[in-house]
Amino acid sequence: MKKDITIFMFIDAMGWEVLKGRTFLEELLPYRQPVGMQFGYSCTAIPTILTGERPAEHKHLSFYYYNPEDSPFKMFKNLGLHYLPSVIMDRWRVRHQLSKIVKKMYNFTGYFEMYAMPFNRLHYFDYIEKTDLFVAGGLSPTPNLADLLVKNNVPHSISNWRLTEEQNIEAMIDQVKQGDIRFAFLYTAAMDGLLHRVTKDGKEIQEKLDWYAGKVEKLVSAIKEHYEDYSLFLISDHGMTTLTGTQDVKGKIEGLGLEFGKDYVAVYDSTMARFWYFNDKARTIILEALAEIPQSSILDEEYLRKHGVWFEDKLFGETYLLMEPGVQIEPCDMGRKALAGMHGFAPEHPDSMAAFLGSEPINDQEINWVGDYFKVMKSRIEKIAAE
Ligand SMILES: [Zn+2]
Repeated sequence: MKKDITIFMFIDAMGWEVLKGRTFLEELLPYRQPVGMQFGYSCTAIPTILTGERPAEHKHLSFYYYNPEDSPFKMFKNLGLHYLPSVIMDRWRVRHQLSKIVKKMYNFTGYFEMYAMPFNRLHYFDYIEKTDLFVAGGLSPTPNLADLLVKNNVPHSISNWRLTEEQNIEAMIDQVKQGDIRFAFLYTAAMDGLLHRVTKDGKEIQEKLDWYAGKVEKLVSAIKEHYEDYSLFLISDHGMTTLTGTQDVKGKIEGLGLEFGKDYVAVYDSTMARFWYFNDKARTIILEALAEIPQSSILDEEYLRKHGVWFEDKLFGETYLLMEPGVQIEPCDMGRKALAGMHGFAPEHPDSMAAFLGSEPINDQEINWVGDYFKVMKSRIEKIAAE
């Protein structure tokens, strides 16, 4: 039996449109195609890729959802932190330190940040990413990639997302040099932050791609020394849409005379706002106001079902308002200021498209949507296990 290795390398936000007109590993990875994004905000993509399921199944659509009973932020309810000067309390470092305290208190192992959610609102909400999504049982009861690898007893390596991408790449090269693993998932995420900052048109993007290319070449030469054959796939979750305008959705809703927590609650992500109503009057008033907000649309049940984000129990809200591609909600609960680039718009928009690059063609499966990567990973893992 020939000893081979299959590596899936994830590059956050390496969109199809980001690669367009640029050079990136054409010889090593000649088989490439655009891939549909999963509808949703930042925390949707990874669970979808690691399970091959839609958010309706794995439940990760956005960080915050209404659940005051189980809110890990209950302690903030009476602390009065929102009375403190916002110049201090809204600083990223202050919120990051407070997030770390909450994370430690509850032993959360996932990516946990409270972002810019106001302190006097936190206690209404629960936070979805409490566990490490990459380890076995991380998305339980939905089986994830690690569960699949353990079940099939395949020697493998999955990156530690807490490390820098450079550390992860070097760690993977070291693993490859030992020659024991047969399957690997290499996680890199710095491209996302860069694109948020400089957009897909930034001159820094080609430099960054060249940097990845150098690392991938180094990885491949290590593979060639220690394995007889390999399959390498570069995958991403979405692209990046350049800022074209902002809408103060939050300000408009808060000017309606309704009481937050009593009449309704809302979460304002960068590209969508979600609402829960506690009486019919609030529902009517808010729906009327939302219909008037320019450059946005209220998503209907058919659209939500099509994208696998329809929840019978309204877990993520009763109404979803989605902004037009390029238009961000400012301020929002993720940040006070819009960023130069953002994702989380309609998956149908070209800038939302993810990318799949392969060292070999995938003939037995179609890859239309990012969740389809999982099918490819699964069939590869089962093939290794059957040897
Ligand atoms: Zn991002």
